[in-house]
Amino acid sequence: MKLHGEVQHRALRLKLIACVLLALAVGSAARLAAGIAAAQSPRQRQYAQQQQAAAITPAPPIVASDTPNSAEQQAKHYVILVSLDGFRYDYTQQYDAVNLKELATSGASSPDGMLPAYPSITFPNHLSIVTGLYPEHHGIVANVFYDPARQQIYSYRDPQTVTDGSWYGGTPLWVLAEQQGMRAACFFWPGSEAAVQGTRPSYYMQYNPKYPNDDRVKQVLAWLQLPPPLRPHFITLYFSDVDSAGHAHGPDSPQVASAVHEVDQEIGALQAGLAKLNLPVDVIVLADHGMIEVEGDWIDLDQYFHRSLLEESVETLMYAKSGADAAKIYAQLNGKSDKFRVYRRGHMPESLHFDQNPREGDPIVVPTGPFLLRVSQPPPPSAAGAAGNPMAAGHGNEPPVGMHGYDPAHMPQMKAIFYAAGPDIRGGATVPPFENVNVYPLIAHILRLDIANLKTGPIDGKLAVLQSILKNPD
Ligand SMILES: [Zn+2]
Ligand SMILES: [Zn+2]
Repeated sequence: MKLHGEVQHRALRLKLIACVLLALAVGSAARLAAGIAAAQSPRQRQYAQQQQAAAITPAPPIVASDTPNSAEQQAKHYVILVSLDGFRYDYTQQYDAVNLKELATSGASSPDGMLPAYPSITFPNHLSIVTGLYPEHHGIVANVFYDPARQQIYSYRDPQTVTDGSWYGGTPLWVLAEQQGMRAACFFWPGSEAAVQGTRPSYYMQYNPKYPNDDRVKQVLAWLQLPPPLRPHFITLYFSDVDSAGHAHGPDSPQVASAVHEVDQEIGALQAGLAKLNLPVDVIVLADHGMIEVEGDWIDLDQYFHRSLLEESVETLMYAKSGADAAKIYAQLNGKSDKFRVYRRGHMPESLHFDQNPREGDPIVVPTGPFLLRVSQPPPPSAAGAAGNPMAAGHGNEPPVGMHGYDPAHMPQMKAIFYAAGPDIRGGATVPPFENVNVYPLIAHILRLDIANLKTGPIDGKLAVLQSILKNPD
């Protein structure tokens, strides 16, 4: 009888659980509907859906290697590199991000911002930060681009290309660490799901924008509590909230304010967790680019020339069938609008460092203000595509409210935050705006990793640029 009673009890419990789940589902559906009704555009509806989507069950990290830290590496300090996507340099003050302000006091900051590489978009800049190379040198020249030699398109949305190491040039910091016997871990970072030069971070995650932010921080803290031989010394961490809110609602919106406070809280939780561990950890918090409110609707470049001259095109990038065809397109675009300039590849302004890689296309257009350029209107997105990943929200068919990608030298709103604090960083140090390729030699210096003889050649960044924020510059 006891058994029977237990079975009945279990059945009752299952019914109760089912009721609670149903109530939760009805509640969240109602909230979802309310949020969707309040939003004004498809993009804002998509943002509301992302905000209100049910949390997922966190997946465990992928363990790619069980090679322990060498004895030499175990004695070294730790670096956590945090990216708050789309966190403009002046949001900290504008929205009073208390934990970032605390980092600036206890550590170093760049109050007037850090300069992203051109184009100031997500994948090129995340790769520039972890390789010390301009996009044309590491090869990820846009979120989506065509490689004329491979005759293939790389897309941040395509799991096949994102996880294919042959697309990535340079030596990402986690590869550098692993090559020198130091374990590394990535809680999301563009490129971290590929084996680059055949090497992966010891621990990494499959990108999932719904992974709860709190659990990301908890996982990083858990990695730092592994036994010393298994414990990563270089860790990346990524949050997309601020970029998504900026695209959907613009930089001056209450939605950006709340996203800033959300990620700032995660920085607070990370710092509080680290304080308990008593490990020598330097935390670097930065962003890939800023955000600006756009002016006007999409400008379709193919109104000025015939598409038959193109072998391929993606977003703003054009790949002409031949040099002669590139010259024709150039002539047809030149002087047609004050909203963009057009150049032949090989004749781009030097400051953009966007002139040498065939993946950049030819000719190349550069917007002169916060305008929305594209080669042509894409077909309406499929339902699956529309639900895509917020790491790149704002690049669909619907004109966004906020955008980035512009020349940071001529648009201060493209500048990103930079903070660094920990045992190796001078408290209260400040630096004037600097290019993000200089973060790589700073981190390599803190971790005492050798970058003098990289297989992938010399980097574009220089240690001298950020040396003044180090306690021990030598
Ligand atoms: Zn971004
Ligand atoms: Zn974005």
